[in-house]
Amino acid sequence: MTQSHWDAIVIGAGVAGLSAAQMVGRARRRTLVIDSGSPRNRFAAHMHGVLGQDGAAPLDLLARGREEAEAYGVEIRPGSVDRVDAHENHAVVNLADGRIETARAVVVATGLADELPAIRGLADRWGAGVLHCPYCHGWEVRDRTLGVLLSSPLGLHQAQLVRQWSDCVVVFTAAMGALDPAMVRRLIARNVEIITEPVVEVLGEGAEVTGVRLSGGRVVELGGIFTAPTTRPLDAFLTHLELGRVDTPAGSFLAVDQTGRTSSARIWAAGNVVNPGANVPISMGAGAMAGAALNAALVEEDFDAAVHESGHGRPEVAPAAYWEQRYADAHRIWSGRPNATLVHVASGLPPGRALDLGCGEGADTMWLAAQGWDAVGIDISPTAVTRAEAAARAAGVRARFLAADVATWADEGEFDLVTASFLHSPVALDRTQALRRAAARVAPGGRLLIVSHAAPPPWASPQHVRHHAFVSPAEQLLELALDPKLWTTELAELYTRDATAPNGKPAHLEDGVVLLRRAA
Ligand SMILES: Cc1cc2nc3c(=O)[nH]c(=O)nc-3n(C[C@H](O)[C@H](O)[C@H](O)COP(=O)(O)OP(=O)(O)OC[C@H]3O[C@@H](n4cnc5c(N)ncnc54)[C@H](O)[C@@H]3O)c2cc1C
Repeated sequence: MTQSHWDAIVIGAGVAGLSAAQMVGRARRRTLVIDSGSPRNRFAAHMHGVLGQDGAAPLDLLARGREEAEAYGVEIRPGSVDRVDAHENHAVVNLADGRIETARAVVVATGLADELPAIRGLADRWGAGVLHCPYCHGWEVRDRTLGVLLSSPLGLHQAQLVRQWSDCVVVFTAAMGALDPAMVRRLIARNVEIITEPVVEVLGEGAEVTGVRLSGGRVVELGGIFTAPTTRPLDAFLTHLELGRVDTPAGSFLAVDQTGRTSSARIWAAGNVVNPGANVPISMGAGAMAGAALNAALVEEDFDAAVHESGHGRPEVAPAAYWEQRYADAHRIWSGRPNATLVHVASGLPPGRALDLGCGEGADTMWLAAQGWDAVGIDISPTAVTRAEAAARAAGVRARFLAADVATWADEGEFDLVTASFLHSPVALDRTQALRRAAARVAPGGRLLIVSHAAPPPWASPQHVRHHAFVSPAEQLLELALDPKLWTTELAELYTRDATAPNGKPAHLEDGVVLLRRAA
């Protein structure tokens, strides 16, 4: 069940995710946030180290963040993401309840899981008397006797850190085995007490910690205890993508650049899911950075697409390769009938030497030859030219065909009629240069006939309209800018011809016709 397509989906509505969402929403992107409702600091009643929010309740900050993001049109929905797939132009986000959402890009801000040691009384007091970070809560317990329970390799760093907040620090090392003697000397040098006997229970009154019980029964009185648990980034739904990762002392985390971009061009990640050391302001900043970078990437894409659609960005597509492919891909492209406007205008002209530029599969050239013209057709596609030759042979018409680029073809001969019908190209084509060269091939007294699409067909899609340049007769004359002393305009008008729309119904097409005569 696919729902809507978003500019951005943010997974996780903690501070990192909401901050990214606010940024993207304010950038007027359709943004969906999906959140399973378990921010990491939900256990703490107050937060610190957050400028302007000191002592505020973490959940209050998130509630305000949601309101702010929603004010910019961000939609926040409960849900749990269990798979994300990244494709060239979009990402697909699967939710555990079967919903599927798609977006141009995704921010992963799912945070991490703290895996606490299984010690009685510890988990109950996590975020209150059992603390994870002295920057967040050290001030509030300063100068008390503080315990540090080693439960991961980060604990030794934490033990040294906590000493900054109290002269009475006790480190419980059992979970880490024997410490490196150099580390032991280091801790003792600053009067940090080391206890190797395992802690079996955290004691306290309510959420507060009053001490720990050791395996031998001894109680050590404390005014608080820190522990740096094993951290597990909540990114399992990305595992199959095999994104780049980095190994850190806290574990393996997604590798991101300074903007939070992962090794997938569709996925950014911010906050604790990539940086276990990030507190609230750092996560918030990373989210804002990721949101802005995601928007900047979409802005680039929007401009690239616009340039591509307007045709200005396509010189990298070689016209020869494009047209050859186009003819080679189809059994036949054109109807085999001559262009009605050419027939209408050229019927009354006295035959002589004729050059048909961009002859395609040769119908116009063959028609001219059949009218008595010594006709040559030129097209950039060898396949088209081969088909034209075969068609002329089959029809018993004497017409010559050349595979050459009309913009650079260098035959010095002159012609009594040079015609170019619908010399439009969705890939780079210097039409002005091609038509000026065409004019230069016209013999004195000869004519230049240009037939162009003057308006899109009635059934054209907006994309088709953007892809093609339409040329009125007046614009055509301006584009040619031929010397008025040498050239006389015999015809500059719109010609309406009948056509059949793709739905089989009759329709009309508008051709711009310009017929110029060179002075004799
Ligand atoms: C007890 C404790 C107290 C803390 N106190 C402070 C403090 O005082 N000051 C401070 O600066 N920092 C504090 N921190 C750190 C703070 O919690 C983090 O810095 C912050 O939460 C990181 O924000 P985040 O947005 O990256 O992740 P989180 O806040 O954890 O938000 C992640 C969100 O993603 C959601 N989620 C996860 N997986 C999925 C999924 N698959 N699909 C959908 N949603 C998903 C989660 O439910 C959650 O809502 C504390 C941390 C703890 C553990």
